[in-house]
Amino acid sequence: GAVVEFKNVSKHYGNVAAVAGCDLRVEAGEFFTLLGPSGSGKTTLLNMLAGFIEPGGGAILIDGVDVTSIPTEKRNIGMVFQNYSLFPHMNVAQNVAFPLKMRSADKATIRGRVDSALELVGLAALRDRMPNQLSGGQRQRVAIARAIVFEPKVLLMDEPLGALDLKLRERMQMEIRHYRDQIGCTVIYVTHDQGEALTLSDRIMIMNEGRPVQVGNPETIYDRP
Ligand code: ADP
Ligand code: ADP
Repeated sequence: GAVVEFKNVSKHYGNVAAVAGCDLRVEAGEFFTLLGPSGSGKTTLLNMLAGFIEPGGGAILIDGVDVTSIPTEKRNIGMVFQNYSLFPHMNVAQNVAFPLKMRSADKATIRGRVDSALELVGLAALRDRMPNQLSGGQRQRVAIARAIVFEPKVLLMDEPLGALDLKLRERMQMEIRHYRDQIGCTVIYVTHDQGEALTLSDRIMIMNEGRPVQVGNPETIYDRP
């Protein structure tokens, strides 16, 4: 069955329908991308799933359970943002350990999980660096490690490569696919970049003005001339 399900979900800001009557199903292990222009409702949709904002109407289910009244930290969702959002006063290892400490994991578990997450993103050698001593790409790898370290059910990524230059973006697209294949978790990814969506995704949902206008896999979503 679906890991994530939206049933007729809406969110209005005054007269603006940020998300309007959205239905969607994401299956276990899928790499699912929301693709659409700026203002089409992608971030609002992701933030409702994460629990940062409440839907105005409809239902959001994770593993068949309505999560509308479940707080963010109990939804078992990892999140990566465009601007990294690392804690500036914590080094790399402390940033990655943070979600485990929040969940009161024991010391041995924390050490083991932090080590493997940093290994996965290739930053084991930089574990004592502070965020301001890292490049943009390295910061985003730390943010990814921190989002997956507690083995979330769903990983949400909101324009994670948007702040990086083109060359690094292309390299990190490959890395993100590799991380996903290694950990096998469900990913919901937001981008306005069509090429990125086609490269990364198992399925793509195209959004426009708060509505899904098309859903399909990269081979079928565009009409061929
Ligand atoms: P996207 O992520 O596709 O760029 P958003 O979900 O950020 O789109 O925004 C969808 C629409 O909702 C836009 O018209 C935006 O201006 C509006 N919107 C988003 N958040 C707010 C807010 N907090 N207050 C008012 N309007 C908002
Ligand atoms: P990336 O490895 O993510 O492609 P860059 O190409 O920007 O990053 O950086 C190359 C190398 O330079 C990195 O591996 C890193 O060790 C070092 N570096 C970049 N920025 C900084 C910084 N602000 N402080 C210390 N070292 C840095």
